[in-house]
Amino acid sequence: MNHKRLAQWSIGFVILIFISQAYLIVRLFQVNYTYLGKEVNTITQDVYTKDMNLRLAEQSVMGQPKVELLQKGAKVDTTGSFEGGFNVDKMKGVDKSSRVSILNICIELLLTKTNPMKLRSIDSLATILFKKDNIHTPFYTRIVDLKKDSILESSKPGMQLKSSPWVSIQSKNIPLNLTQDRVLQLVLLNPLKAVFTQMSGMLILSLLLSLFSIYSVFILQRTLARQKKLAQSKNDFFNHVSHELKGPVSVVYNAIDSLLNTKAIESVERRTHYMEISMMELQRMTANIDMILTLSMLEEGMFHLNRTEFSLPELIEELKNRYFISGTKSVEFVVENGMVNSVVYADRNHLYQCLSNLTDNAIKYSGESVQISYNLFESEGVFGISVIDNGQGIHDKDRERIFEKFERANSDTKSKGHGIGLSYVRQIVEMHGGTINVQSEWGIGSEFSIRFPRTN
Ligand code: ADP
Repeated sequence: MNHKRLAQWSIGFVILIFISQAYLIVRLFQVNYTYLGKEVNTITQDVYTKDMNLRLAEQSVMGQPKVELLQKGAKVDTTGSFEGGFNVDKMKGVDKSSRVSILNICIELLLTKTNPMKLRSIDSLATILFKKDNIHTPFYTRIVDLKKDSILESSKPGMQLKSSPWVSIQSKNIPLNLTQDRVLQLVLLNPLKAVFTQMSGMLILSLLLSLFSIYSVFILQRTLARQKKLAQSKNDFFNHVSHELKGPVSVVYNAIDSLLNTKAIESVERRTHYMEISMMELQRMTANIDMILTLSMLEEGMFHLNRTEFSLPELIEELKNRYFISGTKSVEFVVENGMVNSVVYADRNHLYQCLSNLTDNAIKYSGESVQISYNLFESEGVFGISVIDNGQGIHDKDRERIFEKFERANSDTKSKGHGIGLSYVRQIVEMHGGTINVQSEWGIGSEFSIRFPRTN
């Protein structure tokens, strides 16, 4: 599967996750909302029954005949006497729930005169039941005249009779008179809050899952982009390497050809000149091959340093001479603090290649002429070299990145290069137990400093 297809699939997959999450949440909302409605009905009925029983008990204390409201499943007195309670089963021709309802109404009417229903008591009983069910949203109760469409009494005055189901849930009507137009209602306010509180665990989980899928797709896209860039850089790199190796070979070929086919071989001066050119090109080629081999060995963990003691100022002198011969630009070299304790213990060839890369860059990323300073310094067993130039400099945002393999500053589209030089330098310096850093200002110049322990 190619990168583009994989990216499209992953985005499609996230969209699918979102749609299924949304569907689940909507379904869950519907189920919870319906459940809340049923719960409001059950609680209203329970509260009403409890309140009526309480009022009946008070009635009996007050010396009135003892009447008890029977609930489903309760033991009934089959004598049908008023003293022992009503036997709803004996009322023929009316279905059982209607019979209970009619009896309730009768009892309610009976109680209205002596011990009428108080909405405040109903509210306090309902509060207990709602709390038990973990529902903490506000509610109120009211007595409504269905014929006149008006509120007769309310535990929360000022409320409207009708409102949208998003704003409140109204319980089923509990009739309070035989014509069933005077009813008790319980109204639960802010039902969405109650539903979302119930769903909070699921919502958090779903949010986490969505965030996780977005993050995974983001990582996948980034990895794919990096892989694509890496594949492109590797391709460019191989083209560049072939070109770089072909260059010296043709220069050497032409030099030898000139010596063999012209009278140039007879002139010592021209012979030396051709030889020097060939030597330099071969050195450049060897250095490039060495760097590529070293990077591949470093990658496979097979690279080892070959440390010896040598003089650092001498190494720098050698480097300067090389550029002196091969220079295409006007380059001025300055060596500062050259008298620093000169003998170091390091891999001479690779350190030379590192400094050579830094110098190449200082020349490459500068104008027509450039001044390069090598500053040697030493403190407490650590020695260091800074390569300072007055070239184009590096933008802040690129400074860390340029040490990564195949990374180049965004501004460098014109100069040739493939972003492996600094990666090589950093790895060699780190193999010596050292560090490299850069200070630079765009338009002013750059300073690359490497530090390593004198001995290890
Ligand atoms: P290359 O020079 O082949 O691109 P390097 O790894 O040597 O690769 O350098 C990485 C990038 O760092 C360069 O492309 C360039 O943008 C930036 N850079 C390195 N040295 C300098 C310097 N002395 N001045 C300005 N930019 C530099």
